[in-house]
Amino acid sequence: MIDWIIGALCALLIAGAAYWKKSLSLSGAVAAVMMGTVYYAAGNLFWFGILILFFVTSSIFSKLRGDRKAELEKSYAKSGRRDAGQVLANGGLGMAACILNALWPNPVWGYFFIGTMAAVTADTWATEWGGLSKRPPRSVVNWRVVPPGTSGGVSSLGSMAALIGAGVIGGAAWVLLRWTGGMQGAMQGLISIGLWKWIVIGGASGFAGAMADSLLGATVQKMFRCEVCGKIVEVGEHCGRPTAAARGWSWMNNDAVNLISSVAAGFIAWGLGAFLA
Ligand SMILES: [Zn+2]
Repeated sequence: MIDWIIGALCALLIAGAAYWKKSLSLSGAVAAVMMGTVYYAAGNLFWFGILILFFVTSSIFSKLRGDRKAELEKSYAKSGRRDAGQVLANGGLGMAACILNALWPNPVWGYFFIGTMAAVTADTWATEWGGLSKRPPRSVVNWRVVPPGTSGGVSSLGSMAALIGAGVIGGAAWVLLRWTGGMQGAMQGLISIGLWKWIVIGGASGFAGAMADSLLGATVQKMFRCEVCGKIVEVGEHCGRPTAAARGWSWMNNDAVNLISSVAAGFIAWGLGAFLA
């Protein structure tokens, strides 16, 4: 019971600060408090620490040169202020792994969790740092120059940030496992894996997830055309008018793309973990 209270208080403190700093909408803050509480109470500092590391770094990086990004945010769903849907798309899979591990402890959930969190961290760091790139991004599909912020557009700065972000999650897993003295019962196997192996597990799975995200964004993600300014955008409204369908599968919105890429990264981390352990 005490874990639920500590978890809820920590989550409330961090989500409250994020709401105050305008990194979260009200629905996003409510979802983040709920999620943080579960991560702490059903998991421990290993799960909670990874979530906080993703969340705090992403919130800080989203404030980098906010004025230039404000223009991009009108066209793309990934905005500085995250709502409940985005919070769940980023941390929901990790929460599922955390709950499953509480019910049926197995190292597999730990690897899967690190893969999904490395992917969402890589994707978010890439978006925020890539937005600062002086050179325009190129399409991951045909390598043509695309407007900054375009789904499926990659820059060297963004790709570097993705790789570092993913590797940091892997390294943090190693640190937190030591801090928490390994995990409950069946998870003990995770603590015997060295720092570099963890960096490889997080770095490779997260980077692959971010690339999958770009690939899906460039191909099957639902995109719209603004009938006022002619831009291709992710959102249903632009220039104050509803937008028209341009391409992609109707259900494949930005959150669905995130979710699929994270699942892929989770499985890659699982495979790497089983191989390197
Ligand atoms: Zn427009």
